[in-house]
Amino acid sequence: MKCPQCGLFNPDEAQRCDCGYDFTTTRGHAEPPTYFVPALLTLLLSLPFGVLALVFSSQVHQRFIAGDLAGAQRASQLAGAMCAAGLAISAVLALIFYLS
Ligand SMILES: [Zn+2]
Repeated sequence: MKCPQCGLFNPDEAQRCDCGYDFTTTRGHAEPPTYFVPALLTLLLSLPFGVLALVFSSQVHQRFIAGDLAGAQRASQLAGAMCAAGLAISAVLALIFYLS
């Protein structure tokens, strides 16, 4: 991977560049997706899942700026999962309503 600070190429398993840049921090990492817009859509369709999705969505950014990249990625996955669950359930409910 390329060091964002000095441009030197380091082995992927390197923890720290020769210039002192620490690859283990969130610096140089992209913030995981917050799923904020899908979470809002989920909120309109399925309130409980939408609330959970918004909670996890806000945790992504808070954890990322606090330097907790693993926590931010976990919250991002959970936010995505809540959106998927909420949208799937409302699709099933819509189908049942449509068919009945
Ligand atoms: Zn460097």
